[in-house]
Amino acid sequence: MIFTDTHTHLYSDAFNDDRKETINRAIQNGVTRFFIPSIDSSYASKMYDLEKEFPKNIFLMTGLHPTDVKPESYLQELDFIEKQLEERQFYAIGEIGIDLYWDKTTLTIQKEAFQRQIQIAKKHKLPINIHCRDAFEEVFEILELEKSDDLRGIFHCFTGTYEQALKAISYNLKLGIGGVVTFKNGKIDQFLKKIPLEQIVLETDSPYLAPTPYRGKRNESSFVVNIAEKLAEIYQLPIMDIAKQTTENSKAVFGI
Ligand SMILES: [Zn+2]
Repeated sequence: MIFTDTHTHLYSDAFNDDRKETINRAIQNGVTRFFIPSIDSSYASKMYDLEKEFPKNIFLMTGLHPTDVKPESYLQELDFIEKQLEERQFYAIGEIGIDLYWDKTTLTIQKEAFQRQIQIAKKHKLPINIHCRDAFEEVFEILELEKSDDLRGIFHCFTGTYEQALKAISYNLKLGIGGVVTFKNGKIDQFLKKIPLEQIVLETDSPYLAPTPYRGKRNESSFVVNIAEKLAEIYQLPIMDIAKQTTENSKAVFGI
């Protein structure tokens, strides 16, 4: 059984004391494929080190996180992304999108950075990994502008409604399902069964958003198994089938 964590911040400081052990623990639990979203250029060297240490397991993305789109630096950050793409391999542009929970004042440049990064992804024939918080309308507005056959990717940490799920899928996006599906008040568990499993990928977003029974604690990639267990219950399928299909879906998105 092979599980894929399509969104895990393994380079985070939260793992400074036991990064290797955490990754090995995940691998022992069958979680062997880790897709690593970028935040900004300051984490690049830590991400490259991680890739060097676990070359068969770690797959990197590059991108500027919406909460790090700052007026004084976002243009240089976007240049950095384009330069990195010339120099080394990445499997997606992410995480990118719009976040109006932390800061509404940067909405205009968040939209600009999101759209430009989608265009960069298309140019390099890469999928995108979308972060959306309190901003469905704004994210869909940009996706509508960029809608095309080569627009594809993952709607990371999907927490919207059934209608928003269908809309995301209409833009060639799979739904990244994480710890929230295990929460009592998480809501997505109520309609997920209506979404074909072919549209779902698993993720932890570790070190954030740990699933039940670890809610509130540090999240880690081995907890993908707890998320898969919940999906097995929702879809009434053996966990093996959940592992197989969601890993296949991740391969379809990332090409590896
Ligand atoms: Zn993230």
